[in-house]
Amino acid sequence: EAEAAYNLVGREMVRTFYRPRTKFSHKGTYGHALVLGGSHGKIGAVALAAKAALASGAGLVTACVPECGYVPLQAQLPEVMVLTTPGFSEHTELPDVGAAQVCGIGMGMGTGEPVQKAFLAWLEKMQTPVLLDADALNILSLHPADLHRIPGGSILTPHPGELKRLVGPWKDDFDKLEKALVFAGAHKCILVVKGAHTMVFAQGKGYVNTTGNPGMATAGSGDVLSGMITGLLAQGYEPLQAALLGVYLHGRAGDLGASRTGYEALTATEIISSISQAFLELS
Ligand code: AMP
Ligand code: MG
Repeated sequence: EAEAAYNLVGREMVRTFYRPRTKFSHKGTYGHALVLGGSHGKIGAVALAAKAALASGAGLVTACVPECGYVPLQAQLPEVMVLTTPGFSEHTELPDVGAAQVCGIGMGMGTGEPVQKAFLAWLEKMQTPVLLDADALNILSLHPADLHRIPGGSILTPHPGELKRLVGPWKDDFDKLEKALVFAGAHKCILVVKGAHTMVFAQGKGYVNTTGNPGMATAGSGDVLSGMITGLLAQGYEPLQAALLGVYLHGRAGDLGASRTGYEALTATEIISSISQAFLELS
């Protein structure tokens, strides 16, 4: 049974491991985030994630997209390096990643056969924790026998639909939490169950986030979270810390953004613009 004492994720808690920048540091100190995904018509998902990784403090950010994403990304994100793979409209191959880069993958990526093959082959080679979101999770749901390829300590960020595909339907909320806890244990991962009260499951424990609002139920909101967590991982936060700090700051940025725009007009871009203020409140 899930006999979890749920820990609340609030300012006090994340401040116990938040690390302010130090004077004698350089961009290498803050890591290199690699955001992979996108497909024709969904390059924006990678743009949002890359921008969010930068705004969360990653020293360097590279976006890896199919060819059709090259111009839009280069043109709108001067700070971001862009790497393309051979396909025009979707990934048909994914690059070998060195230990120096931390990956977030899946946003807007698509689930066609070529992408499925490319992603599963790529995942097999990864040895360090990665962030898996959106279509990376949808592809794994189509290939449950390949779940063992997920590197230990990886972070998965499903919304309710993606979670259902991953763990199967649940009878009620208790059953849902139990299934999430069991999945996180079985695959030695950190499972971020997104929703109005985002929960994080890892190592037999559950955490409940205290920030966020219904304005965040908007296109691209989850892509921003993925970019933030990838950016924090790149800075050397332990995966569980990156997940908790990312979820907290994302919700807080959403709350700060909504205080200006209201719920209806809140956009993913506005959430990114408020990440700075969310960090400022931490110190
Ligand atoms: P996605 O569906 O992948 O775009 O992710 C949506 C993001 O917005 C997640 O981080 C959710 O936790 C957040 N979100 C969605 N709806 C709400 C809500 N009603 N209250 C708070 N956060 C929400
Ligand atoms: Mg999403």
